[in-house]
Formats: sequence, C-alpha cells, structure tokens
Amino acid sequence: MLNIGCFLSISKGYMHCLKETEYVGGNTFQFFTRNPRGGGAKPVDEKDAAEFVKAAEEKGFAKILAHAPYTLNPCAAAENVWEFTRNTMADDIARMEYIPGNMYNFHPGSHVGQGIETGISKISDTLNAILKPDMHTTVLLETMAGKGSEVGSRFEELREIMDRTELSDKLGVCLDTCHVYDAGYDILNDLDGVLHKFDDIIGLERLNAIHINDTKNLFESHKDRHEKIGEGHLGKDAFKRIINHEKLRDLPFFLETPNDIEGYKAEISLLKEMYDAG
Ligand code: FE
Ligand code: FE
Ligand code: ZN
Repeated sequence: MLNIGCFLSISKGYMHCLKETEYVGGNTFQFFTRNPRGGGAKPVDEKDAAEFVKAAEEKGFAKILAHAPYTLNPCAAAENVWEFTRNTMADDIARMEYIPGNMYNFHPGSHVGQGIETGISKISDTLNAILKPDMHTTVLLETMAGKGSEVGSRFEELREIMDRTELSDKLGVCLDTCHVYDAGYDILNDLDGVLHKFDDIIGLERLNAIHINDTKNLFESHKDRHEKIGEGHLGKDAFKRIINHEKLRDLPFFLETPNDIEGYKAEISLLKEMYDAG
C-alpha cells in the first residue's frame, strides 16, 4: 500500500487532520508544529492526541510528520535567534511525546556567511542540546536545495551533522524530491545512482520519509520552488519510478505541492493509480 499524505493545518487538532486525511484518500499527513512564520504554539489537547493515537493505530495509519517552523535557524549567527531555535525545537519535541513514535522534520539552516563548517558544528550543537535519550520521536534532517547559504544540500553535510551528534540514533533524513533535484542530484535520469550515493554516504536505513514535490526549476538551479506532480521539470514518469522504487516504496510520502485540499485529493488518487500493488 502506498503511504501518502499532504500538508494539513493542525489548528483544529489531530483528529480533524485524521478525518481530512481520510477525505483525501491518504493514510498519513504532515503539519507545522506552530505558525510557520510565527512563534507560539497552542497547548496540546491531550484528549485529542490520545484519541488520535488510538484511531491512527486502528486505521493502520503510517507515521505522521511534524515540520518545524521556517523562522528557525539551527545554525544562526545571532545568539538570540539561535537560542530561540533551540527552545522552540525542544518544546516541539516535548509536545511530540503526546503522539509517540512519529517524526519531526527540520531544515538544517542557513550559515549566513559563517561558512559551512561553522554551520555544521552549530547544527550538531543544537541537536546535542535538545535530543534526549528517552524521547520517542525520530528527528529528520531535510535535504535542501542549497539556496542562499543553506546547509544540507549535499549528502556529505547531513552525514557530518549526524556524525557530530551524540544521540545520532534519534536522527534520520527526509528526502525532498524538488530540493535534491534543485541541488544537483539527478533523480530524473539516474534515480538508482542517487540512491546509491545516498546509501554510501548516509545509509538508506536512515531514510525515513520523502517530501514528494515536482519542481518549477531546472536541474541544479538551487532555487526551491515546488510544482504540482507532473507539471514541473521532473514529470509524472519520474514520480512513478520514485514511488515504486524497491528502496522507497514502503516509506511515507508527503505532498508539499501548491494545492488546496481538492488538489491534494486528485494528486493522491493519481499517485495511487501509478503505484504497483506488487
Ligand atoms: Fe521543509
Ligand atoms: Fe520539503
Ligand atoms: Zn521546498
């Protein structure tokens, strides 16, 4: 079965997202832990979270994915931004304990002129400050397009961050199809080769989730602009190969395409049609 979902707003709670997911034909979803541009988060509705954990289990949902807000920068140069990032991520991870066993994805950050080496060491410092031995969430580093001074557009950079993180068994990777293509990994013409490289450098056992997006930009453009499935430079056939690839087909796929709920529903049904039941 294809594990697939889309971006939903958590403002009405987990159970509401579960129902929306059933409406679009998915079995997982992604949500921002708080306003993607703002700061504060509503207190967790414990009853809603407990109800969701039970219902998701009964309905055979795949793991769901929380996404850290865009305002964070785990390798910020400004001390106040860096501290805000650590506090927010620590709070997000604490809140995830109400829905144990799921995943939390974040952008490694932008080194803003400090250089890639300082960026990497600050990101691992951030992780060393917030990961706890008794947590029940897998924290995912997202592969980035490499726009501006973004860290994490090379597999080697993600590997280095993981190597410098003490509790690295809590870490995994979320591969964004738009970002890796924009970053210069040719998943259109050489998917096997890219996955081989990923396996050599990071290890495919670390790959926990896929952000499934087409791209508005050409190969290696380092731009990061998502497009609807089949309407960008990757195209439908590339996604057919991606969702059916033996190393990827059992992972959860999360759409982040420019769509409303009806658009997501149509895209999910298109992807399900392209998925070989095998
Ligand atoms: Fe992201
Ligand atoms: Fe993404
Ligand atoms: Zn993106």
